Amino acid sequence: MPVYKNIAEFLEFINISNEKFTLFEWKPERSFRRFDLDLNIIKENPISDIFFHRDKGNMKLVYIRKHNLIYTVGASPAVQYQLLEALLEHIDLKFNEIFDVETILSYGDFSPGLFDNEFNPIIKEIVLNFADLGLVKRIQVECRVCGTVLPLFVKKTFIENAESYPVPIVYSHRGHAVLCFIDKNYHHRGVELVNITG
Ligand SMILES: [Zn+2]
Repeated sequence: MPVYKNIAEFLEFINISNEKFTLFEWKPERSFRRFDLDLNIIKENPISDIFFHRDKGNMKLVYIRKHNLIYTVGASPAVQYQLLEALLEHIDLKFNEIFDVETILSYGDFSPGLFDNEFNPIIKEIVLNFADLGLVKRIQVECRVCGTVLPLFVKKTFIENAESYPVPIVYSHRGHAVLCFIDKNYHHRGVELVNITG
């Protein structure tokens, strides 16, 4: 089964924090791992409204700071970054739809477990039905290095909110990368091999 249809199986954790503490954390039922060190490093990044990626070899991290909250997801390297970004965008939307976070946090007796009961079933629903939420599109691109057609996932918001078309995206895989141009209708308009540094 493709990864995006079964994303729950590939997730290590989902965390929503503010500057001081974790407001909500989801982990697969069998997992007792802790990710405090990663979350502390992420909190040091003050930049808002931009997705950041970290490749830890055996785990990918995607995170974004929005208003006073920091959303993080950890997943298997098999999950494309765009899928994880789409997941966090949807979680941000739902979390703020359900909770008036600022008001809740202004209560003197706030306890970090407060969000668990209500948000746990919602997260479960999101990760189990991720493929049915219509948040991503699958595009086939040819890579002439691999000599194969690869599935490239893009989140719809990335294409819909683009300022001009076609939109460029770099697909880094197996030690090399291709630059793909995606039009408004999610068709690719060319694929080039690109050099990478960093
Ligand atoms: Zn390739």
